[in-house]
Amino acid sequence: MLNSSFEPFQPLAAIATNQTAARILQPLCQTTEATLWLPESVEKTQNAQYYHSSLKKHLTSIWTSHKAIVFCLAAGAVVRLIAPLLADKQNDPAIVVIDSLGRYVISLCGGHQGGADLLTQLIADTIGAVPVVTGAASSCKLPAIDTLGVPYGWRKGEGDWTGVMAAAARGETVQVIQEVGNTLWQEHLPEQHSFSFDFSEIKPQARIWISLTQRKFAPKSDFPKVQWHPRVLWVGIGCERGTSRQLIETAINTTCQKYHLAKDAIAGIASIDIKSDETGILELCGNLSLPFKTFTAEQLRQVTVPTPSNVVANEVGTPSVAEAAAILAANNQELLVTKQIFKGDNEPGAVTVAIAQAELEYTGRTGKLFLVGIGPGSLDQITPAAKTAITSADAIIGYSLYTELIEPLQRVGQIIESLPITQEKQRARRAIELAQWGLTVAVISSGDCGIYGMAGLVLEALQADNWDGKTPQVQIFPGISALQAAASRAGAPLMHDFCAISLSDLLTPWEVITKRLQAAAQGDFIVAIYNPRSQKRTQQIITAREIFLQHRPSNTPVAIVREAYRDNEQVTLTTLEKMLEAPIDMLTTVIIGNNNTRNYANWMITPRGYSVNV
Ligand code: SAH
Repeated sequence: MLNSSFEPFQPLAAIATNQTAARILQPLCQTTEATLWLPESVEKTQNAQYYHSSLKKHLTSIWTSHKAIVFCLAAGAVVRLIAPLLADKQNDPAIVVIDSLGRYVISLCGGHQGGADLLTQLIADTIGAVPVVTGAASSCKLPAIDTLGVPYGWRKGEGDWTGVMAAAARGETVQVIQEVGNTLWQEHLPEQHSFSFDFSEIKPQARIWISLTQRKFAPKSDFPKVQWHPRVLWVGIGCERGTSRQLIETAINTTCQKYHLAKDAIAGIASIDIKSDETGILELCGNLSLPFKTFTAEQLRQVTVPTPSNVVANEVGTPSVAEAAAILAANNQELLVTKQIFKGDNEPGAVTVAIAQAELEYTGRTGKLFLVGIGPGSLDQITPAAKTAITSADAIIGYSLYTELIEPLQRVGQIIESLPITQEKQRARRAIELAQWGLTVAVISSGDCGIYGMAGLVLEALQADNWDGKTPQVQIFPGISALQAAASRAGAPLMHDFCAISLSDLLTPWEVITKRLQAAAQGDFIVAIYNPRSQKRTQQIITAREIFLQHRPSNTPVAIVREAYRDNEQVTLTTLEKMLEAPIDMLTTVIIGNNNTRNYANWMITPRGYSVNV
């Protein structure tokens, strides 16, 4: 996949009715892997599919099978086309409209739950258009209440969703009572928001419960309430061979009802490995989209449980299946419900159920790591693909200077974690931890992420974890590196063979660095020096200059570029002899020319080929 930021929207369809619109959608379809649909009347276009019926009929045929549909068509026409097909917010595809000149991208329908708001932003990033998002949450700069728990796999429970969302849109105080699930989202709210975490508030205007309890709200309550259910419950199951799916489901439902537990808070089912082919359990997991974890008798035997059984021990080699499996699946947390035994009235089979509560909710998502280079500084030097990676991420991790630089690209409700410059390894670890949990995490580096950036550190850390290469999924988004940015400000110094050398000896022994400096100087490479001087490391650049003076004349052109493409940019064209007179620090890249490099009209030029007389 070219850009996996669009993966959550697959299958994605794009529809145009004329050649101009097709031209706007075509590159987008390439990036997003959307199917481009055109009427037969339009001239044959590469990689397009043609519909033979009316657009209305065609739309009906693709409606339920697609996650998102992008139109390059008049908004009014789209409204009429989709009106008869709209069913409900939860299942309708996201509908996005692009105007015929490709200047605006409109989130028309399915903004929150369908993800149209996010898709609109991603398409706008990709084609350089203005996103038009009209939902109330986006103007309040608040995460939308009906998608709040989506990144963490929470399930939406019962309640008056329209009422609570309307209260939030009016700016009324929405009380949040969170009993389980992570609270990361609370820590990353904008400074001004209308959520209240004060439980003692006597009469809030709306309330969100985030809990594992199944609450029944009275229909005539004086304020609207909703409930989100983080998936923290692991249900341990033991059963006789051949027990039906219905009996197992009844056993779970009855247990949940008895203990007021929300079925939506169930993370998954756990049992002994000999049950891994038990049809009733497999059917149940399939129907409810629940994972099924199994453990060996040996593993289960180690767990101390409240209700051990000798009969079970004799049969399967562990005194507990349901209780022990629930505890293990919940990462050794205590049981919330001890073993309950169920037998069918008129059918064979028997089930035991026990429930444990995990500390961390199960997201049910496969995490992604986006390793993103954000370019040298200004936002117009960042690639559209890197922008989509940042927009689509649930969490962004990077050095604080860089997270500040991309602040305008950040989306409401994203988790932004800035760590100090020296903590690269911790940053990589944290990103992996969040991605392993199921989040889409963008790790950002300045310049290119694979050039003295975070990409290598993250891949190294994954390797140390015996990563399988798939989970989390990794995608790398390149950026304009400092050497390209600095060169473009100085002229065309990198026109011939060049190399980059970092003078930082924090992770590389100084002997190795000097050896490379010597080789580069001797080989007449143009050299871009990264990390040239810090407050503590002042000698390295002096030594580097001496090494080059042994092989090149003192008037060799040198460019000192500080903060390229940032507010305080400074470009100094100088020579090897005088280079130390210019300001050089950790925000600087130093480019030392080769034996043919020259300065002309304030530009540094290295000839492309030496035999040609320019
Ligand atoms: N991944 C980055 C490099 C990180 S190492 C990239 O590809 O550009 C940090 C060094 O990069 C700094 O010490 C400095 O030498 C250089 N650098 C980064 N951004 C710069 C900028 N805007 N202007 C000049 N040099 C820069």
